Formats: sequence, structure tokens, C-alpha cells
Amino acid sequence: MKSPQQMDDSVDVLDAVVIGAGWAGLGVSYWLARRGLRHRVLERGRIGET
Ligand SMILES: Cc1cc2nc3c(=O)[nH]c(=O)nc-3n(C[C@H](O)[C@H](O)[C@H](O)COP(=O)(O)OP(=O)(O)OC[C@H]3O[C@@H](n4cnc5c(N)ncnc54)[C@H](O)[C@@H]3O)c2cc1C
Repeated sequence: MKSPQQMDDSVDVLDAVVIGAGWAGLGVSYWLARRGLRHRVLERGRIGET
């Protein structure tokens, strides 16, 4: 995994994809963001409807 310093914002490359935006997925997303890691959260229903 690349460090945030190595990442090139012009390239559409993610460090992680989180499946599900329940409390677990949202918590993981929070900590990925705190670490500066590029990621997307995919939710098939409603966000946070846990
Ligand atoms: C009827 C009921 C009552 C409950 N009451 C309580 C309570 O009073 N107190 C308590 O502490 N706990 C309660 N729980 C338990 C609590 O809801 C779960 O422990 C908690 O929601 C688990 O969180 P999670 O983020 O792991 O999963 P979830 O909250 O289930 O979130 C998972 C998310 O992933 C999404 N998802 C799944 N598969 C995909 C896919 N392939 N692509 C995209 N998105 C996807 C889902 O749509 C969902 O939004 C209850 C559970 C139920 C069923």
C-alpha cells in the first residue's frame, strides 16, 4: 500500500473500497480518512441505516 505522500491525485487509484455503509463501514471509512487513504464506500441501500 502506498503512503499518502506517494499517491498521485491525478491517477484514479484507491487504497481501499469499503462495502457497506453501516456503522462498521462508516467507522472504517473514518479511520481511512484520518490516515489520508483514498477510498470509496459502496452502499446498496441507505447510508447509516444500521
Ligand atoms: C431487528 C434488529 C434489531 C437490532 N437492534 C439492535 C439494538 O437495539 N442495539 C444494538 O446495539 N444492535 C442492534 N442490532 C444489531 C445491529 O443492527 C448490528 O450489530 C449492526 O447494524 C451491525 O453493523 P454493520 O455495520 O456490521 O452491518 P450493517 O448495519 O448490517 O451494515 C451493512 C451495510 O452493508 C450494506 N451492504 C451489504 N452488502 C452489500 C453489497 N454487496 N453492496 C453494497 N452494500 C452492501 C447493507 O445495505 C448495509 O447498509 C439489531 C439488529 C437487527 C436485525
